[in-house]
Amino acid sequence: FQRRLRQSERMESLGQLAGGVAHDFNNLLGVIVGYATFAAEEIELAARADAHWQAAHDDLTQVLKAADRASDLTRQLLSFARREVVNPEVIDLNAIVVDIEKMLRRTLGEDIELRTRLRADSPVKVDPGQIGQVLVNLAVNARDAMPAGGILVIDTDNLAIDEHYAAHHPGARLGAYVRLRVSDTGTGMSPDTVERAFEPFFTTKPVGQGTGLGLATLYGIVTQAGGYAQIYSEPGVGTTVTVLLPATSDTTPSGETVTAAPRQGRGET
Ligand code: ADP
Repeated sequence: FQRRLRQSERMESLGQLAGGVAHDFNNLLGVIVGYATFAAEEIELAARADAHWQAAHDDLTQVLKAADRASDLTRQLLSFARREVVNPEVIDLNAIVVDIEKMLRRTLGEDIELRTRLRADSPVKVDPGQIGQVLVNLAVNARDAMPAGGILVIDTDNLAIDEHYAAHHPGARLGAYVRLRVSDTGTGMSPDTVERAFEPFFTTKPVGQGTGLGLATLYGIVTQAGGYAQIYSEPGVGTTVTVLLPATSDTTPSGETVTAAPRQGRGET
């Protein structure tokens, strides 16, 4: 339990740090991109008259490309750090999956088959944009884990946490949940990677390809909504990420803040 508490405290402070840095950095990037764009336009004109300027134009194009990648990174950092701004709504999780299915298929590409099994029959109270982001993050990870293709299954159903379940999942609160499971037939993760996967900035991907923020963002979103996230993975077989969100019958207009304390729901796999 101590370890879990330490981990969630570390996530909090890393999140705040990341948010502060990303915010300032993003402003600086705006200045860099602005001036580089002006310079590129001017140099392009000069390059028409004098080939010598062409090299300078090419260099500047590289600067702008790098700035673009840096913007992507800060965007991810900000969405990770700004998870306190939530607009929870009572929503049907199945409908969200159906809504973004097309986009997920595009993300996955032609070699990965997407299957859905949507059986959840109670609403949940979450920020629909955030839950969409959770699904996109999971699809991106699954795609990266299945370079030669495979199958991705998105499954929703209902699950009651009773005394028996809670006995095996320390810290789990009794109640009715909607369960979202996203399974791939990819590379899987080593036990060590599973252990660290929710940590911000933990990545096994090459520099420039992974930020280590996908699952940390998911973790923040899900715990803030009063839910749990768990990873089951077997190297060479695949990975299942399970998300539990409290089922709600509440249909009153949303708007009040979610005050659920972050909780750790990671299984000891
Ligand atoms: P990133 O994808 O930027 O590395 P994440 O937080 O999303 O950051 O994931 C952290 C790490 O967890 C990944 O680098 C990868 O090693 C592992 N991982 C996440 N999802 C999967 C998956 N579906 N299959 C295999 N490994 C995964």
